Amino acid sequence: MAEQVNAADKLYFPEAWGAGYFSINGKGRVQVDVNADGHHKVDLYELVEQVREKGLTPPYLFRFPQILEHRIEHLHNAFAKAIEEFGYGNEYRGVFPVKVNHRREVMEAIIKAGRRFQYGVEVGSKPEMYLALALPLVEGSLLLCNGFKDDNYMRMAMHAQRLGRNVVIILESLADVQRAIRLADKMKIRVPFGIRVRLHARGSGRWEESGGEYSKFGLSTGEVLEVLRVLEKADRLDDLVLLHFHVGSQITEIKRIKNAIKEAARVYSKLKKTVNSLKYLNVGGGLGVDYDGSKTSSDASTNYTVQEYANDVVYMVMDVCDNENIDPPMLVSESGRAITAYHAMLVVNVHRAPENVLAVEGITLNDDDPQVVHELHYICENLSRKNYREFYHDALEYRDELHSLFNLGFLELEDRARGEALFFDICHRSVKFAKRERGPMREEFDDLQRDLAYRYICNFSVFQSLPDSWAVGQLFPIMPIHRLNETPDQAAILCDITCDSDGVIENFIDIHDERRFLELHRTTSKELYWIGIFLVGAYQDIIGDFHNLFGKINEAHVLVGEGGRAHFQKILPGDSIRESLRFVRYDPDELTRSLERTLAKRTGDELLTQREAKRILDDFKSGLEGTTYVLPNENARTKKR
Ligand code: PLP
Repeated sequence: MAEQVNAADKLYFPEAWGAGYFSINGKGRVQVDVNADGHHKVDLYELVEQVREKGLTPPYLFRFPQILEHRIEHLHNAFAKAIEEFGYGNEYRGVFPVKVNHRREVMEAIIKAGRRFQYGVEVGSKPEMYLALALPLVEGSLLLCNGFKDDNYMRMAMHAQRLGRNVVIILESLADVQRAIRLADKMKIRVPFGIRVRLHARGSGRWEESGGEYSKFGLSTGEVLEVLRVLEKADRLDDLVLLHFHVGSQITEIKRIKNAIKEAARVYSKLKKTVNSLKYLNVGGGLGVDYDGSKTSSDASTNYTVQEYANDVVYMVMDVCDNENIDPPMLVSESGRAITAYHAMLVVNVHRAPENVLAVEGITLNDDDPQVVHELHYICENLSRKNYREFYHDALEYRDELHSLFNLGFLELEDRARGEALFFDICHRSVKFAKRERGPMREEFDDLQRDLAYRYICNFSVFQSLPDSWAVGQLFPIMPIHRLNETPDQAAILCDITCDSDGVIENFIDIHDERRFLELHRTTSKELYWIGIFLVGAYQDIIGDFHNLFGKINEAHVLVGEGGRAHFQKILPGDSIRESLRFVRYDPDELTRSLERTLAKRTGDELLTQREAKRILDDFKSGLEGTTYVLPNENARTKKR
């Protein structure tokens, strides 16, 4: 048993990507340790059973607010440690970039957990500004206003200051500057400004293009000087307090971070000599998450830790400021991904796994059966470790012949079915032989293994719940949450239930490379098979869309007490069919009335009985309130979502 669990640890390596929050317990199930300290562990499979008992249907999103709290603490502690260690002459203030996860409960948990650190927020749009105005930020926490601004956005930011918020309006263009001066003059207000600069340095990884000289965002050096001139002319240069840059999300290489910090600190120092009011250096987001656990600069990883990041920010800024002989600024960072990614995970049931309807053992042949089927049967019977390569190549030819003969009308469907079953058996066994060879597997069989991967249809929508997997090919850790004390023997890829061939996950994390399939267990008819998709708390919630009208999924927010007692802080039902239809501007009641009219006509024409009509209407009405996802068989009669 313990051996099997060790094997699962090696196969799915949660200790590498889980940052201490995820591991496998003695029962062969994933457990979540919300404080990464060994004292607050809960069995994820048991949580699934509990939410099912409450009548909730899959898929599920589990959130752990304590993990959010732990992440916030972790980041602040890292900066505090670095500041103390290097004797940095100022402080650190974090802000949460709202766009990373706007969900109300997430924001509330973040604000609550951040109070003791004066954790602030960064907004990047008008609606986010409105949202931030209502947030119960603790006094002194920063409210940073980024993004494209119109008069309304700018005015609300200025009102925020009147409401006692520690607001900084970040100017990203000359038009922003003109607008800010005009409105501040009109409102007779002095409001702190920041400027966002475009650095020469770039990030690394998937979002590298967000930084650099050609970035969509920020002011060039020439524009910065012009902004200073305009502010001075308006007698508002003293309102400039903050310098900001952001070179992209998920920066994979620490070297890139160091370069950006060095450059930004130099810009800050030069500006500080003419703009004495400057006091904050905001290093933006970009602190990455090690999704694949490899601790490398691969797109899904980072070759540094949070502590290293904090150390480098603090040390680099201090070094440049010392060199330029200026006071070090208050450091601000806008890390979003690193704060929220870990706190949420998807748990999906396998809706359908392939079934072997025609076992080769059951195939018997007569003399008058087609020659090509006999040939495949012979190969199948005689395939061995010594001959598998040659026999596999022969089988490829016979497979083509099988299809040609069928298309020409020489074979029956039964012949084709038997031939295909024999061919696939040859393929599967050839891969097994190839895997036993010493050294790396020949490319041909590696590709074959991938082609043969079973399509596990999972009850979720990639577009709704894992949009970055589809849009930018981001990798997330994925593994079964139970049966980890059994050896998985199926190579699989995951397909969602949308009618879209892009709704698949066919690349998976690996310590050394990317995997082209995931090892999963055979499903049984006795028990649903559950797969966890982890680290989905950043960006996925908000970017997800309604493809095929699959809506938001059922959500459970879990608090874990000492000794692993779980308490459901909140259960949030996902979207019903009614809500999804509303989203695309249908009125479900109008649809119901339309159905009623059709039913009345059909019963009037005696094409339906009153009883049949009532049954149809009842089914329609109750279904409207139900889930948009596929009900597992035993839930088929459950009305709840
Ligand atoms: N700040 C700004 C201006 C951003 O555009 C972003 C996201 O790209 C962030 C902060 C958050 O970045 P991350 O989630 O990588 O920490």
